[in-house]
Formats: sequence, C-alpha cells, structure tokens
Amino acid sequence: MTNITNEELWQTVLSQIQFSISRANFATWFKNAKIISNKNGEATICVENSFAQEWINNKYSSLILKILRNMDPEIKSLNFLINPQKNIFTTKDKSLKELREEEVISTRLPLQELSVNQKTNINSCYTFENFIVGDFNQMAHAAAWTISETPGSIYNPLFIYGGVGLGKTHLVQATGNRIAKLFPHKKIKYISCERFVSGIIEAIKSQKIADFKKEYKEIDVFIIDDIQFFTGKEKSQEEFFHIFNLLYHSQKQIILTCDTPPKGISALEERLKSRFEGGMLVDIGIPDIETRMAILKTKAAEKNIELEKEILEYISSNIRNNIRELEGALNKLVFFKKINNKVLDIETVKKLLKNLILFPKKKTSFKNIIQVVSNFYDLTEKELLLTSRRKEIVKPRQIAMYLLRQELNESFPSIGRKFNGKDHTTVMYAWDKIDKGIKENDDLMSEINLIKQKLYNTTL
Ligand code: ADP
Ligand code: MG
Repeated sequence: MTNITNEELWQTVLSQIQFSISRANFATWFKNAKIISNKNGEATICVENSFAQEWINNKYSSLILKILRNMDPEIKSLNFLINPQKNIFTTKDKSLKELREEEVISTRLPLQELSVNQKTNINSCYTFENFIVGDFNQMAHAAAWTISETPGSIYNPLFIYGGVGLGKTHLVQATGNRIAKLFPHKKIKYISCERFVSGIIEAIKSQKIADFKKEYKEIDVFIIDDIQFFTGKEKSQEEFFHIFNLLYHSQKQIILTCDTPPKGISALEERLKSRFEGGMLVDIGIPDIETRMAILKTKAAEKNIELEKEILEYISSNIRNNIRELEGALNKLVFFKKINNKVLDIETVKKLLKNLILFPKKKTSFKNIIQVVSNFYDLTEKELLLTSRRKEIVKPRQIAMYLLRQELNESFPSIGRKFNGKDHTTVMYAWDKIDKGIKENDDLMSEINLIKQKLYNTTL
C-alpha cells in the first residue's frame, strides 16, 4: 500500500511526460486527464474521449506505467475510463488532421512494461526470433548468439556499437533472454548506463556504495546499455571500472552498447577504453533497402496489417536510417486504420507520413563538421584547425577535410584556407587518403558513417 495520492501520482506523470512531447499535444491529450483510482495493482486514468484514450494508450501507456511504478511498484497495469459527461467528441473527421499536425511520432515501443522481468530488468518481448538479420547487423548478431550459448567464455566483453534505433537494445536483451532460458541458474542483469549512473549517485549520497557494488558483484551476465552516457562522469566511471574488473576476472560475461566505438567516447578513461577494445567489438550499420522492406513486412504482419507493395516500397525507400522510425511510421498507419477503418492507399500514406518523410533534408555546415569531428575524436576545434602534426590529430583533420569536400562540395583551396592556410595539395592528399582508406578499411568506413550520423543527427 502506498501513501501517495492519485493527484500526486498524476502530477508526477505530467511533470515527466511534458518533456517528451510537444506543448500542443500535451495540452490536447493530457490536460483533462487524471488518475481516479489506484487499487489492486491497477491505476485508472480518466480521459476526455475515446480519441484521447487511444492516443495516450498507444503512445504513452508504457512510459506512464514506468513512471507510476517508480513511485508505487504495486501498480501493474493501466486502465482507461472515458469521462461520461464529456464524451461528445467523434473521432471521424478530426483524426487525419490531428495526425498530420502531430510532430514526429513517438518512438516508444508498444511493448508492455509488464513484460519486463523485475529481477533481470529485461523485456521478454525482445528475442532472437523477432530480430531480423541482414548484412548490416550480421556480425553483431553472430557474436551475441554465440555468447548466449557460452556466456563468459569466448567474447568478453562484447561491445556493440551503432547509431540510434538500429537494434542494440533489442539484441542485447534478446541475448539476456536466451541466456536465461539456457542457463536458468545464471544471474543476469540489464541496466541502461543512465540508470546505472543515477544508482551510483544515489548510493554515494546515502553512503551505500558498498551495498550497491555488492549487488553487481554477484551477477553472472552484466549488460549495460548506452555507455556513451558515461561521458564526463568520472566518479561513475571509476566505480564501474572496479565492477567491470571484478566481473571480468571471474569470467562473468559483460555486454556493452554504445553509439560510437570506444575511442569515439569523449572523456572516457583510457583504461576503460582499452578494456573495451580488448574484447569483441562489433558494429550495427544501417540496413539496405531490401532489408528495410523485409523488416517492415515482418512488423506489419506482427501487427496484422497488410500493406501493398507500393506502400512498403515508399516507406522503406524514404525512411533510411533508423528501424525505430520504420516502426513509428507503421504504428502511425496502424493507428489510422484502427480509428478510420479505411483501406490505406498510397496517397493517404503519403499524407500521414508527411512529417516523418518530407522532413526537410538536414544540411550541414563548416561549423557543424568541425564541431562534430573534433568532438568525435575528443579534440578541441582549435587543435583540429591549427597546424599541429601530432599523429592523433592528423587523421581527424584529414577526415574533416574529406567531409568538407564530400558533404559541402567545397574546393580544395578553400578548405586549405580554413585550416590555417594549408596548401590545396595537402587537402587533396587528405581527401585521397581517406577516400582510398574507406574502400580498404571497414573500420574507417564505419567510423566515418558514425560521424555522418552525428552530422545529420539522424536520430529522432
Ligand atoms: P537502439 O538500442 O540501437 O537505439 P533498439 O534496439 O531500441 O535500438 O531498436 C529500435 C526498434 O527497432 C525496437 O523496437 C526494435 O525491436 C526494432 N529493431 C531494431 N533492430 C531490429 C531487427 N534487426 N529486427 C527487428 N526489429 C528490430
Ligand atoms: Mg537502445
């Protein structure tokens, strides 16, 4: 039982949700909603109309449940009630307009929070069975699969890196799920780096750091997600380093994910970087169009929606960088179909996905390239632009020059001038070196792809 009132519960939900949603949507959907009861593990939210119910339920129920459970772990499910006095709204005509006005669609998974195992923190919906494999993720998949059969013995640590929405979390949780199935006695723990860090801060505050560490020392399989979040958090890195070493030396499996390779994480202690690099490093790239079609088809089938080939092609040729966005597009169509009960034709699809697809292609600039490259290699912009010949600066500088040429079509002499008056032949040499380099060296290629992703911020 809890002492928190319904009003307090709802206020907390509102205060956390408002940051992940546009003001217009917040005002439209959440303003008149409230929690009217919380008993027997079920919280009931009263909403203004069925449209609000659909919308909140579809997009925010898992987040709401998560927030509520943080305050009151007894809450297991959400229930919606439509306010009988206000139910005069019809969804018919408004839906398309509303959908169009919506900003970028929420990217949250429609997976039930309840599928999250309280002990391991892993969602049982993420499996190898529903993970689609293609060239772009084959290595990562193979490594994860092997680990699931022989945890702690071959690839340790496993470090998976790649851009946002490309399946890192799915893959590592699938690995955890499979290990749990094959080795029921093993203690598995998944945690996002963000939560790990706040756990440490909390433990330090309450002087319980020893307890905190003890919990981790007993784990057999430790999965930590999005470790780029360690950037600049020295104290947490230090604690993590100790836990890491301890587990590593007792042959416990460690799996890490990150949005860049270890060397791309700025302000990460060298000793941690070298630990990570000492294990198995695999990347997840961007799926090609055929794979995107296959993913879309599979997901559409899972959601019981049939899409014509033309529609599948339209979506997969326009949404390129992110599987989560593909799902977002699909969710939008499913939602539309559900409330309109109409056959989806390509024109409607184009209208519905306008915001996702016709988003003006982002442009980059000199400033942006310099900023992103120097950030990526943990250099200052000055170091990158000035003349130092230090080896660790030469390569990033050549990459910056290469990108200026590739992405902005700048002339060699003009690029040279920006780098403290370098001769255009130096720039040509740099361009040539990188251009050849990426054809011969996959690592360099994926490094540059990651930089490009950051450049265009291809995340949602
Ligand atoms: P990341 O952690 O890299 O940001 P996620 O693992 O959260 O990405 O994946 C985003 C969404 O795309 C999830 O809903 C996930 O289930 C789905 N997804 C990603 N990769 C695949 C895949 N290979 N097959 C099927 N679904 C995928
Ligand atoms: Mg993730």
